[in-house]
Amino acid sequence: NLMSKQLVYGEFGDPLHVVKMREVEVPEVGNQEVLVRMLAAPVNPADINTIQGKYPVKVTLPCIPGNEGVGVVEKVGEEVSDISPGNKVIVTKPVQGTWRNIAVFDKTVLRLIPDNVGLVEAATLTVNPCTAYRMLSDFKPVKEKGLVVIQNGANSACGQNVIQICKAWGVKNVNVVRNRPDIDELKSYLKSLGATYVLTEEELRSTPIFKDKKLEKPSLAINCVGGKSSLEMLRHLQHSGCMVTYGGMSREPVTIPTSAFIFKNLAFYGFWMTVWNERASPDAKEAMMSELITMITENKLKAPVHKMVKFDNFQDAIGNALSSKGFQGC
Ligand code: NDP
Repeated sequence: NLMSKQLVYGEFGDPLHVVKMREVEVPEVGNQEVLVRMLAAPVNPADINTIQGKYPVKVTLPCIPGNEGVGVVEKVGEEVSDISPGNKVIVTKPVQGTWRNIAVFDKTVLRLIPDNVGLVEAATLTVNPCTAYRMLSDFKPVKEKGLVVIQNGANSACGQNVIQICKAWGVKNVNVVRNRPDIDELKSYLKSLGATYVLTEEELRSTPIFKDKKLEKPSLAINCVGGKSSLEMLRHLQHSGCMVTYGGMSREPVTIPTSAFIFKNLAFYGFWMTVWNERASPDAKEAMMSELITMITENKLKAPVHKMVKFDNFQDAIGNALSSKGFQGC
């Protein structure tokens, strides 16, 4: 009998304590189902928060973590005609439990992925690239009108996608990161991805990049951090610009001066990929996916900095993700 190694948690809490590995028999493949040997799956901040019981998506315990990943098809059910053994597939719906080596998924949660899409790019396609793509598409016509974008947390997995999509679309982008001893290395890395400017939080306060017209003021601010960082970004927005908040890494609230509403007519939105996916039409999803896949195959979009960890060493991957040093794969 085929056995699967899977991670599982039976209670919410510290991911290093509640997530355990177990071995179970793989169930029969139903008519509409597909047996997938998983190749890679990331540890995203949402995975950690879900295990901690702090993420607003309902899961039933015991639960296999993991919201995205890539695998190779080993067997398909009798009524599955569009997926065949040997195909590479990604899991496109959340809460399917991708942190296991072999899984039986419903065919509707899988999407074929071309063989020339890299392993890590495929494993991480549905969360961060899609989030970056939507935030650059749904709030201001940055591509069509050549508007400038500013973002904080620019070295995050999501931020690295924002930079690369901006570059592919010819959109100028200003990137704010926290200072660190190897800041020059980080700046050159982000510039190599397509960053127009990379500034530390302190430099954003003192560098006159918008004053002497080196660059138009940004129309769209993408906020990963909140607190002082988002306040500083919104000061640089154009009249009638907007800020989209998608993360709250500083755990500080977003503060908006009254004058920003009255005199600058700024608008403030939140974005959550989970909800977009629930509401969007299949055509809209496909248009986004195929554009992102094309960018990847044309080498315009690569996976963020990461570290691969063997599945058996999952605790290392979780530990690294807990210290928030970028996403970890396993
Ligand atoms: P990463 O782990 O790749 O990056 C985390 C980023 O946060 C790094 O840039 C890090 O900077 C920064 N950071 C960490 N702590 C602080 C702090 N105290 N103050 C300022 N910056 C800080 O994360 P992801 O890109 O995977 O995710 C980033 C955020 O976006 C998360 O909150 C995640 O939940 C959210 N997200 C939301 C989505 C949505 O649909 N709304 C979809 C995808 C992600 P440094 O290098 O300086 O530590």
